Amino acid sequence: MENQGLRKCLHVVLVPAPLQGHISPMLQLGDVLHSKGFSIIVAHTIFNSPNPSNHPEFIFLPISDNLSDHDTSPGNLLALFKSINKNCEEPLRQSLAHIMHQQELGDRVVCIIYDQIMYFSEAVASHLKLPCMNFRTISASFALAYKEIPRLLAEGYIPRQNSMLQDLVPGLFPLRFTDMPTDIGSLEDVIENMELSINTRNYSAIIWNTVDHLEQTALAQFLQPRPVQLFSVGPLHKMASPSSTSLLEVDTSCISWLDKQAPRSVIYVSIGSLAFMEEKELTEMAWGLASSGQPFLWVVRTGSECDSEWKLLPKGFKETIGERGCIVKWAPQRKVLAHDAVGGFWSHCGWNSTLESLSEGVPMICWPCLGDQKVNARYISHEWKVGQQFEHELERNAIKQAIRGLMVNKEGENTRQNAMDIMEKIRFSVNKEGSSYNSLNGLAEFISSFQLSK
Ligand code: UDP
Repeated sequence: MENQGLRKCLHVVLVPAPLQGHISPMLQLGDVLHSKGFSIIVAHTIFNSPNPSNHPEFIFLPISDNLSDHDTSPGNLLALFKSINKNCEEPLRQSLAHIMHQQELGDRVVCIIYDQIMYFSEAVASHLKLPCMNFRTISASFALAYKEIPRLLAEGYIPRQNSMLQDLVPGLFPLRFTDMPTDIGSLEDVIENMELSINTRNYSAIIWNTVDHLEQTALAQFLQPRPVQLFSVGPLHKMASPSSTSLLEVDTSCISWLDKQAPRSVIYVSIGSLAFMEEKELTEMAWGLASSGQPFLWVVRTGSECDSEWKLLPKGFKETIGERGCIVKWAPQRKVLAHDAVGGFWSHCGWNSTLESLSEGVPMICWPCLGDQKVNARYISHEWKVGQQFEHELERNAIKQAIRGLMVNKEGENTRQNAMDIMEKIRFSVNKEGSSYNSLNGLAEFISSFQLSK
C-alpha cells in the first residue's frame, strides 16, 4: 500500500504479556507500526496493565483476566501463563467481536499480533477469521535452546547429573547443560509451555525483537519444519519513540547524578523486574561496589513490605560511599545505558536489558538468575564476547575484581572493544537500508496485504 494514510483505517490488535520485559517491546512495536500509518489497539490484562496516558495515540482495551493472588505471586511464572491462557480467551474474543461489529464503514481490524506467551490469541483470531502473528520478545538463541529440550530428553541427555552440568550441549554450542532453561518448572511443565508458546502453529508470521547479524543461525532454525515469514525488527527501542513503557514509577534524578561523572566510569547495576537479591547478596554487592573504586548507579527494588531501599542495605554503607554511589528503586534504564558516563552494566541478562546494552556499546558482567537469562549470558560472554560471566558466589572481593576487570584493567580491553563494534553493527541494522529497517518495512507491507487479500 503506497499511501500510508490509507493504513489509518487498518487496526492492528496487539496482545502483550503482562510482564515488564514483554510489555515494553510490544508497545515499541505498536509505536513503529503506528509510525507506518496503522491504527493500534492494545488488548491487555488488568494485571500489570500499561499506562494509557503514555500512548494517547493507541486504543487500550482491558481484558478481564480473573487472576488470583496465587497466579500473580512472584516466582510462579509458568502457572501465571497457564491461567492467563485459560481465562482470557473468551473475554478477548467478545471484546474484539464487539469492536468489529461497531466499526465504521472502511475501518477494519486486520490482524492480531500476540506475545508468544499469549497463545490463546490464536484461537480468538481463528474464530474471528483474522490472520495472526507471533511476536517474540526473547532471544532466538534462547527459543532454540527451549525448543531442543524434547530432543535432549529423548536422547537421554537430560535430566543431567550435577557433576556433568558444565558439559557442552550437543548441537547447541556454546551452551552448557547448566545454561539450559530446564529449571523454570517441572520438566513436564517446561515442555508443555514450550510446545504451546514456541513450536510452529497457525500464525502467518513470526516477528522477532532481535537483529539478523546477532542471531542468524538460531533464527534459521525457525524456518522449519514449515517455511514461515520471519521479520527480525530489533532492537525495537532504537526505532520507537522514547515514550515511557514502564510499569513502575521511574526515578530520573539519577541522570543529573550521571551528568557529574567522568565518561565511561560508572558501573550500572540492575537485575530487571523479576529477579531479587537475598539480603546477604545485597550486603556483599554493597561492599563490593564500595571497594571497586568506581562510581556506581544501583537499582535496588524494594518489595511492597519495605518503603526504603536503604533499609535493605548494610549500616554505614551510605556514609562510606557518599556521592560516589547513586541508588534508585527504578531507573530510566534506556537513558542510563545511553549516557556517556556509563562504562559497564552488571546485568541479569534479560533480553531487553541485553539489547539495550548491546545497542549502546556497554560491556556487561553477566549475573543471570532465571528463565532465559543463562542462555543470554552465555551468548554475551562466549559468542558476542561483550561481557564476562560472573560465576562465583556473590562475594565482595570477587565483585570488586569483576568490576575492575571489565572496566579498568587490561583484561577487559577486548570485551570493551567488542561491545563498541557490536553497537556499530546494530546502528547500521536500524538505519536506512539496514536489515531491521528493511524487515520493518516488509512487515508493514505484509500487514497491508491482509487488507488486499480480503
Ligand atoms: N528497566 C527499567 N528500569 C530499571 C530496571 C529495568 O526501565 O530500573 C527496564 C529495562 O530497560 C528493560 C526491562 O525493564 O527494558 C527489563 O526487561 P528484561 O527483559 O531485561 O528483564 P526482566 O525484567 O524481564 O527480567
